[in-house]
Amino acid sequence: MRQKENRGLSPGSAMDDYALVLNAGSSSLKFCVYRRPGSGAWMLEARGQIEGIGTSPLFTAKDGSGGVLASESLAETVRDVPAALDGLADWLRGRYAGARVLGVGHRVVHGGATYAAPVRITPQVIDDLRKLVPLAPLHQPYNLAAIEAVARRLPEVPQVACFDTSFHRGQSAVAELIPLPQEIRRSGVQRYGFHGLSYEYIASVLPEVAPEIAAGRVIVAHLGSGASLCALKQRRSIDSTLGFTALDGLCMGTRPGAVDPGVILHLFQTLGLSAKEVETMLYKKSGLLAISGTSNDMRDLLGNSDPAAVLAVEYFVYRAAREVGALAAVLEGLDGMIFTAGIGENSAEIRRRICRASAWLGIDLDQDANDRGGPRISRPGSRVSAWVIPTNEELMIARHTARILGLAPRKE
Ligand code: ADP
Repeated sequence: MRQKENRGLSPGSAMDDYALVLNAGSSSLKFCVYRRPGSGAWMLEARGQIEGIGTSPLFTAKDGSGGVLASESLAETVRDVPAALDGLADWLRGRYAGARVLGVGHRVVHGGATYAAPVRITPQVIDDLRKLVPLAPLHQPYNLAAIEAVARRLPEVPQVACFDTSFHRGQSAVAELIPLPQEIRRSGVQRYGFHGLSYEYIASVLPEVAPEIAAGRVIVAHLGSGASLCALKQRRSIDSTLGFTALDGLCMGTRPGAVDPGVILHLFQTLGLSAKEVETMLYKKSGLLAISGTSNDMRDLLGNSDPAAVLAVEYFVYRAAREVGALAAVLEGLDGMIFTAGIGENSAEIRRRICRASAWLGIDLDQDANDRGGPRISRPGSRVSAWVIPTNEELMIARHTARILGLAPRKE
């Protein structure tokens, strides 16, 4: 790491407090640094990521206003989450030497049926979360690796786990049910829902950004490389398109979305694939990538006239519109539709096509507003209003961490 170049650049002072937000995946470690000055409120100080862990690790960081702080390759020895965390710690020490870290908040994909809210991490919590690894094998182990690596390096610093599933707890029994035999259900097989930190953030800003629908029936479309819809009634989740795992529902970048379970049996029984091969197919080789045969990135597909790329986009929109109809039925009507995440925030074309396919519900899109990117993208008289609201999962984690650890803004 080139931390030496950054030494002495610390914009804060020794009086300042810091809190970290970490989002650890299999090949990336995303982070945010929040600073609380000697007096005043918490503010975003830096955000960045180490991507390509295990292949060609690349460290990038920006300050709170988007200015580049770092962009550099790391040694190939950065092979796992703990090694990435060491790299990040080097950079943080160089930049914020002597800073007090008051807490670390983590994104944890699975909180199971028990953790219906963020929680301060204890050895018991870690044990509980480890039991959920089989339910989220591609995410949970890396989330836990980050928690344990921080605990080893900063044993005095309290940590908080914020779950992607929590926001969905409290749904009705029918919404959570997977109708398999009772002994299977008792082992934790139910619909959990994901992207909860994103939906919780959107729900938290609704009264300010879109007050007229805040108390109503709203569908939020989180369309990124992972994609799902959430049905909100009075800002609470009543159903969503992701279920037991993050494979259900909409077509995603490399995941298929809902598939007839008979197809999975066919892969095992007729084609003789192994569990590992099926897992890799479902998480990494399906969805937009599989349909187009070329890319999982919506930007590439929208700019490509090849019939397979065109079909991939058509299927993405078709599936999204189909699920919008399903959740509108669950909500018994619709007052608002919100787009968020990489595709939802940036692609006017995908928003236009999903809104057009959902026009029967009463969405009357304002083309100019949609091209400008919102926030309101429906015409004034539209029965259902449509919106673009950028999500901020890290801020949600920071808020939870500050609340649970009692890190209130300092009085001016
Ligand atoms: P995640 O956090 O799940 O990795 P994001 O929410 O960052 O994903 O979304 C990433 C996706 O957003 C990319 O794969 C890309 O397809 C899509 N995306 C970003 N910008 C645009 C754009 N201008 N037009 C269409 N798609 C976009």
